Parts: sequence; structure tokens; C-alpha cells
Amino acid sequence: MEIKNNIKGLEAELSGNSCRLIAVSKTQPIEKLLEAYAAGQRLFGENKAQEMAAKQGALPNDVEWHMIGHLQTNKVKYIAPFVALIHSVDSLRLLEEINKQGKKFNRIIPCLLQVYIAQEETKFGFDPAEVLQLAEKNLDQLYPNVEIKGLMGMATLTDNTDQIRAEFQKLKNLFDQLKNRTLPPNMHMQELSMGMSADYKLALATGSTLVRVGTAIFGERIKANHE
Ligand SMILES: *Cc1c(COP(=O)(O)O)cnc(C)c1O
Repeated sequence: MEIKNNIKGLEAELSGNSCRLIAVSKTQPIEKLLEAYAAGQRLFGENKAQEMAAKQGALPNDVEWHMIGHLQTNKVKYIAPFVALIHSVDSLRLLEEINKQGKKFNRIIPCLLQVYIAQEETKFGFDPAEVLQLAEKNLDQLYPNVEIKGLMGMATLTDNTDQIRAEFQKLKNLFDQLKNRTLPPNMHMQELSMGMSADYKLALATGSTLVRVGTAIFGERIKANHE
């Protein structure tokens, strides 16, 4: 009941904005995902490839699976046949592997480029200048089995809302800058993935199109998952 109420509350906040809710279900048991599904939730986010593949087998086919965590190249194969969107593309090596797996499974895999916007040392992602450089390349020839649909970012883990807002705005500015350019045919600025339980309101106000919300839907996670 609580999961359902949390989803309905979030949906009400998002309605009116063209922003969709991803229920981040990492570490949560299947029963909780099914409860969210019964409440109408169809977009789920996971950060581990094998966990996502196992859950995909256990949930109905109309679920959209979003990979949001750092993805090792040797794990792409587990999710390549079905993943709806990989938010966490943080290197060319990974993009190359996704392309290879896309070709193998005869599909074009939708991806976002993860951009480094936080003031933390351990975060993954391209910096904005690298993304601008990448957008100049013949990405449709280099990675024909990949479609880049936008950008993803994570703000610094802080209580300083001005800082979070500034970091989201930085990502939004890059998004708009790219949107106004001629991009490779397989690159489109449609999705801006930013905002989690603690900061989704700020992200929404800054133009996010996909918020990734875990604890505000499912409650605290079991701490077995090393993040
Ligand atoms: C876990 C995770 C989230 C969700 O975090 P909550 O604080 O539980 O909402 C969002 N994005 C990424 C990349 C995550 O790893």
C-alpha cells in the first residue's frame, strides 16, 4: 500500500511536466517490484546487470528496464537483448561494447551519455567538453547499433540546494547547447536524466525528463549492494 501511495504521490508531482518516473528497484525483492507494477509503474531502474536480467525474467514483458549504474563492458551482454535505456555510458570503450552487443542481438540500443557534474572524486562520466567533441564525430558510422538519446547526471551528495541546482543547470545548459546543433543522425537530445529521491524536485524545476527515484518509493535499501 505504501509503495502504491508513494508512486501515486510522485506521479501527481510529475504530471504537468513532461517528466517520467523511473522506480529504482536495485536490491529490492521481486515482491516489491510487483507491488509497484500493480500500482501502474512500468519503468524500473537497476544498477547491476545480472540483477536486472534476473528481475526481467520475473516481471511482465511490458516493463521498461533502465540501467542506471556503472556498467562494466563484460556485463553488457546480460542486458543487451532487452534493456530500454542505458543511462550510464561513461566511456568510449563501453559505447563500443554496447554497439557490438547491439549488432549481435540485431537491435539499436538506446543510451544516454553520463556527464560528470558533481564535485566528488569518485563519480563516473564524460566532462562537458568531451561530450561536445563526441558530438562532432561520425557516431552513426562508428556506433550504428547505438542511439544516443540524451544525457544523464548526478549532483553532489550535499544539503546545499544552490550547489545542486547549479550542477543540474550546468547539465541542462549542455543539453540545450547540443539540442541547437546539428548532431550525428543517431544522436538526439530527447532525454535528460537527473534527480533522485533527495533532489528530484530541483531536477524537475531544471528540466529533467527522467527522474530516478528509489528510497522515496521503496524505503531504505538493504545495504548488501556495494555502491
Ligand atoms: C540508487 C540510484 C538512484 C536512486 O537513489 P535514491 O536516493 O534511492 O532515490 C538514482 N540514480 C542512480 C544512478 C542510483 O545509483
